[in-house]
Amino acid sequence: MKKIPLLDLQAQYATIRDDIRQAVDNVLEGGAYIMGPEVKKLEQEIAEFCGVKHAIGVANGTDALLLVLDAAGVGPGDEVITTPFTFFASAEVISQLGATPVFADIDPKTYNIDVEQVRAKITNKTKAIIPVHIFGQPAEMDELMKLAEQHNLFVLEDAAQAIDAEFKNKKIGNWGHAGTFSFFPTKNLGGYGDGGMIVTNDDQIAEKVRILRVHGSNPKYYHSMIGYNSRLDELQAAALRIKLRHLRDWNDARRQKAAIYDELLKDLPVVTPYHAEDRRHVYHLYIIQADDRAGLMNHLKENGIATGIYYPVPLHRQNVYESLGYGVGSIPISEKMADRTFAIPLYPELTREDQEYIAQTIRNYYK
Ligand SMILES: *Cc1c(COP(=O)(O)O)cnc(C)c1O
Repeated sequence: MKKIPLLDLQAQYATIRDDIRQAVDNVLEGGAYIMGPEVKKLEQEIAEFCGVKHAIGVANGTDALLLVLDAAGVGPGDEVITTPFTFFASAEVISQLGATPVFADIDPKTYNIDVEQVRAKITNKTKAIIPVHIFGQPAEMDELMKLAEQHNLFVLEDAAQAIDAEFKNKKIGNWGHAGTFSFFPTKNLGGYGDGGMIVTNDDQIAEKVRILRVHGSNPKYYHSMIGYNSRLDELQAAALRIKLRHLRDWNDARRQKAAIYDELLKDLPVVTPYHAEDRRHVYHLYIIQADDRAGLMNHLKENGIATGIYYPVPLHRQNVYESLGYGVGSIPISEKMADRTFAIPLYPELTREDQEYIAQTIRNYYK
């Protein structure tokens, strides 16, 4: 039987093996293993790639969010509005700083935070908004920035799933006051371990996060803030620099394969992704909806096709947030989508033949 994974990182490695080995060997021979020349170069290259003034490497995508919020002054008594239809880290960092996450519902088509729902949740305690470009599709950044300006709110783009995505021809990470990326291995630009990056055009935020990532010190051993140990290491940076050269093409391949699925699945009783206007969607995941999700996922599994649910429990319904008091039905669209959506395999190396097999397997389920 065929076996198709959700993502095939070994297939990707096979295409860049020699370059990665050379880059890793250079670091090992060079003797600088944390925040050395490779990190500096990667920061410059990412800044240039995104068209932003500053890029600052950190230990992972969660820390990237945390350090930005800390630098923006988020703390106890503050409220930060975000989406519950995301990975836990988007809200976790708010709580880690002693602030309160406030959840606003999503648009049922794009799965991104709904600007009108955000507007309805603003109070005099609101300090910031964290839109998440979920599955690689940019959120409605122009309307969101307008709203934020009206209320003097800080906007942090969680772009962990969306590096190289664009909204109205401008790269994401460039719309908010800051943006963050994750280099977790499964992300569109993934390392061989953990890594993250902050991008911003704001000089003050950039300076603060640079200090925060090294225990709040500047210069070394002179501490002006309580900070973190959150550095990017050289091996990751060296590998990421190799991969960054391919990112645009890899994302284009994801987009092409997504379009092929759209076509192959269009007359079946599943809902394929909605691609909103004026956006470069980088398809971190290809998400479909089905009435009988469990049945269809099981049928795919029995035919060797991996699938995954992103994410089964919306954040306002997580046990740890029970005290926030969001009951069942309080954020209805996010709850509905958490029950209906799942990902099918999508990665740059996926073959047309495999896509046809996957589509045929879905078709057989509905026969
Ligand atoms: C992956 C991810 C993160 C966290 O990144 P890590 O590098 O794993 O810490 C944050 N937000 C979203 C939306 C993510 O997908």
